[in-house]
Amino acid sequence: MLTAKDRMIIEIMAKFTDELRPIIDEKGVSYPDAERLFDLDRESTVEKLEELVKEGVMTKNQIDSLITCPNCGSHLMLAKLSCPNCGSRIITKGRALRHSCGYIGLEYDFSEGKCPVCDKQGGYQDLGVQYRCESCGNVFRDPRISFLCLNCGKESEDISTVIKPLFSYKLKKSKSKLDKLENMLKKSYNVNMPGSIRGLSGVVHQFNCVLRDKNGRLTVVDIAARDLYVGEEEAFRFALKVMDTAPNRAVFIAIPRISADARDLLRQNRVEVVEAEDLDKAIDLVVDLLMGS
Ligand SMILES: [Zn+2]
Ligand SMILES: [Zn+2]
Ligand SMILES: [Zn+2]
Repeated sequence: MLTAKDRMIIEIMAKFTDELRPIIDEKGVSYPDAERLFDLDRESTVEKLEELVKEGVMTKNQIDSLITCPNCGSHLMLAKLSCPNCGSRIITKGRALRHSCGYIGLEYDFSEGKCPVCDKQGGYQDLGVQYRCESCGNVFRDPRISFLCLNCGKESEDISTVIKPLFSYKLKKSKSKLDKLENMLKKSYNVNMPGSIRGLSGVVHQFNCVLRDKNGRLTVVDIAARDLYVGEEEAFRFALKVMDTAPNRAVFIAIPRISADARDLLRQNRVEVVEAEDLDKAIDLVVDLLMGS
């Protein structure tokens, strides 16, 4: 069952992300945008996304595949090439030539254009880029590929059975309650939802909403929804972005409430805080705040 918070986050997500795509790093596969929105760790975020698929709110599409270690499940797999004839790892890559005498070697074996076997020049057929085993002399197009797991050290030859699918997640409906907010704000501002601004540091920061009025004055808005309180971590992240982008006005919307510490931190950075029970009320309050007076 979806909680009220889940539903709210889905509304927010509908406005700001078409598709949640995974990133792959040394720790594995993750969905950082969803992690931030739901305030969950990697594993719980994937569980949440799967739950949303089951609830019929999201769809998932396979967009990639990862080879994983059959021993430990890690995706940190290093491809290793070897000779399909003798298994040697000592192989080189280069342009392969077949001499008229039948000898096949790599381009640089034919020093001064002479065949190293029959010592004659000319009569070469270009076989394209291939590999040669330096142990047995075999020249081949397709090396044997195995994978060394960088996590557990086990090397695997047959990896065809351990391919892990990688998914992106999409919301089924793309309309959001926040469309209403956008339409209201458009009466007075140039609105970007989401918007990005390059900070003084050179880093580009994303905001849920970036507004510019007729005089070019800049307002930034972020929304965070939590079960009970929006905490300091979220507030700190916003404060850092505000410090770097130096807008004329910064508004932080906390649903349903914000912790005292987080509120103090934002106030010290001249951020206006809006607390609202739900998204509808938040929209009303922000419209009042930014369109009133
Ligand atoms: Zn070989
Ligand atoms: Zn020859
Ligand atoms: Zn492993």
